[in-house]
Amino acid sequence: MRIILIGPPGAGKGTQCQRLVEHLAVPHLSTGEMLRKAIREETAEGLLAKGFVDHGQLVPDELIVGMVRKRLQEPDCRRGCLLDGFPRTLPQAEILDDMLERQAMTVDGVIELAVPRDELIRRMTMRKRDDDDPAVFARRIKSFEVQTAPLLEYYQRQGKLESIDGLGGTDDITARVMEAVRRFELRAARRQSSRL
Ligand code: AMP
Repeated sequence: MRIILIGPPGAGKGTQCQRLVEHLAVPHLSTGEMLRKAIREETAEGLLAKGFVDHGQLVPDELIVGMVRKRLQEPDCRRGCLLDGFPRTLPQAEILDDMLERQAMTVDGVIELAVPRDELIRRMTMRKRDDDDPAVFARRIKSFEVQTAPLLEYYQRQGKLESIDGLGGTDDITARVMEAVRRFELRAARRQSSRL
């Protein structure tokens, strides 16, 4: 299964992803984590990305697409993956579709973790990360609304989107996420059997 989790900063994607990768037994591809690691290790990609990440801006599409392309070619991704934080722009989504199509693969489903803006700000004040400075956080929310939210319509049109209410207890949210995954699994099984 290839699943994408989309949600604004602070929506709780990290926690849900951890639970989801256990269930799916596929690697967790978090582009935020990949970038933070590259920055820590001062790789060429990390040095390029640092200014953008520090300011709560998206890194250029070519940079992140290159990193994801490399990662998706690793053998452990053959069975599937959970994409977290990618794609984040329409061009990234189109490139991903193209990348997968070339390998006769597809995105099986997209989960939106929907959380209202005031709740995100309340949650942000309770955690601490370098890019959680209030001004930077506000920029990251804005970038989600302007650059990433259009992806929801893109995947809706493909019939792949499941929107989940991201409010409530962590276990309740996980239950909703798992229901969405079961629907993706059913659809994938139907696709598979219609091909046979
Ligand atoms: P995240 O942990 O997913 O919130 O990502 C942290 C930061 O990494 C973001 O604020 C962006 O600066 C950068 N980033 C992560 N994923 C992407 C992406 N797909 N495209 C562009 N920038 C990204």
